[in-house]
Parts: sequence; C-alpha cells; structure tokens
Amino acid sequence: MRMRNIQILVNMIINIFEKNTGSVHELWERSLRNILRLASSDINLEIRLAPEEFQSAINQWESSGEISAISGSEFFIKEQRLFIPGASEFYKQHCLNEAPHAFYGCCLWGKYIAVEYAPDEHKLSTQLHESLHLFDVNECYDPHTLNPVDECVSEKCVMRYGVSSTEVCSHVLSQLVRPLTKSSN
Ligand SMILES: [Zn+2]
Ligand SMILES: [Zn+2]
Repeated sequence: MRMRNIQILVNMIINIFEKNTGSVHELWERSLRNILRLASSDINLEIRLAPEEFQSAINQWESSGEISAISGSEFFIKEQRLFIPGASEFYKQHCLNEAPHAFYGCCLWGKYIAVEYAPDEHKLSTQLHESLHLFDVNECYDPHTLNPVDECVSEKCVMRYGVSSTEVCSHVLSQLVRPLTKSSN
C-alpha cells in the first residue's frame, strides 16, 4: 500500500467590517499573504468588504447586544470569517470579558471573528496576529504567564504577546499547512 499526500485547495473568505472607527492597515493584506506564501499554504484567500446583509446583521448585533443576530450559520459557512479593524468599545468589552490581557484585540468565537482596537503603532501587528487566528493558528504565548511557548523560537514572532512585527516563527508556518494536507492511500 502506498501513501500519498493530496493537497486540498481550501477556499476561505475574510469579510471585513469597517463601519467602526478604523480600517485595515495598508500593509495588512500584503503581510498576511506573504506569511501564507512562506508557509506554502494552499489556501485560496478572498478578502472583501462584508456583504450588505452581513453588515446589517452586525449592526443589529451592536444595537441589540444579541449575538443571535449574526450567529445564524449562513454568515460563517464555507470557511467564512469576519474581521473588524478599528473596533468600537462594544467589541473591546467582549474581548476583555474573554481575556483580560487583550489590550489591543482578540479573536471571538475561537477562530471566527478577529477584532482589533490597537493604538496606531500596534495596528498592523495586532491585525496580523488576530487574523492569523482566523486560520486556526494558536497563540505563541502562555495565556496565564504571557511568556512565549517553547515551540516558538523567534523573538520577533507576531503570535507572541506584545510583539510588534510582521514575522512569524516556523511553528506558526507549520500550522498554516498542516490542516490542509490530508493523507490518503
Ligand atoms: Zn492571540
Ligand atoms: Zn511563534
């Protein structure tokens, strides 16, 4: 019996919701795609503004506080994700409830909603960090001690806590490939 690896192309969509105070950093998309390229990831990534109906559902979530406004599965099917740059206080509070050390951003619902509310000098790195969670990439720090994990060997890795950069370690790169390579005989 012979095993072979089959690369499966995954289509992923990041929907951007820019209606709060901020927008994506001009280098965000390029930096993100650069990391995917370094990882030889086979993700076919589409980045777009969230469609109208998605935007109004998000507005409804903001005004009512009811998460059910967006938790309808139609917005997150087919590997769709949401990215909220320059997020308002509403999202910041959600993040801080989940992680008291989330001073600049967080990822809500595990890997579905990346949120950034960082000061200008940390915008790019925070946007990169949180959007990498959308690809199921783990933290490179221990959430209790905030110290780097052993697997992370790069001091400039953006998945560490409080690191401002556009670089990632080899541990992060490997996570961007692994889920997409399925073994088959
Ligand atoms: Zn994180
Ligand atoms: Zn790392």
